[in-house]
Amino acid sequence: MKEQLALLRELQNIDLELDEIKSKKEEIVARLKENTGFLDKLVEDLNSQKEELEEIRSLQRRKRDDLKEIKESLSGRQKRLREVSSNKEYNAVESEIESFKKSAEQTEEELLHLLEVIESTEESIKEKEDKIVQLREGIASDEAEAEKRLAALDEKITALEDRQEEARTEVSRRVIHKYDFIRSRRPGLAIVAARDGHCEGCYMAVPPQQFIEIQRGESLEICPSCNRILYFWEDAVGEESPTEALEEA
Ligand SMILES: [Zn+2]
Repeated sequence: MKEQLALLRELQNIDLELDEIKSKKEEIVARLKENTGFLDKLVEDLNSQKEELEEIRSLQRRKRDDLKEIKESLSGRQKRLREVSSNKEYNAVESEIESFKKSAEQTEEELLHLLEVIESTEESIKEKEDKIVQLREGIASDEAEAEKRLAALDEKITALEDRQEEARTEVSRRVIHKYDFIRSRRPGLAIVAARDGHCEGCYMAVPPQQFIEIQRGESLEICPSCNRILYFWEDAVGEESPTEALEEA
């Protein structure tokens, strides 16, 4: 059994390394997705701002036409003012002129305001366009970099999976089955050391009789608290620890 447990520890190191590499891959892919998501959002914002600008411009055109009409009416009334004969009519035309003047003034103010809005919108569009160009370049180079890293990780995965397969054939079916069952229940360690009367996976005490069995290493022993496979810590002295294996990866 001691030999089986040693093989299992080796298999576990491989599996932990594989887990780590796979989560690294997921991180890389998620980061790329995040960047593209940000770019998509910016492009969407840009398009809606362009539409907005078009609307403001068409409003500007309408206001300009309005102003032209008002000015024409104004000059018509001014011409008329010189031709009127009665006082009553004079006053009426004069008040019309006043009202046209007021409305021309108001429309001019509105046009001025629209011009400001157009200018700031154009500025913001330009900023977004520049940012989009920058982002696209960044994403393209990130993608190229990520592709290289992913390919390297895939290579590592293939090599580890070969070793994994090999290690699995050397462990007995019963032990592998137990190991797989524990790993399917929770990620991480499935086989842990027992030391000084306790399990190093959950730090709970192991019954003294069971600790003796673990030390003997003739049977498959399971921690009564965390249900992981236990081995006597001294048996693994000199072996690469799972954390060391991870640091290398
Ligand atoms: Zn335990």
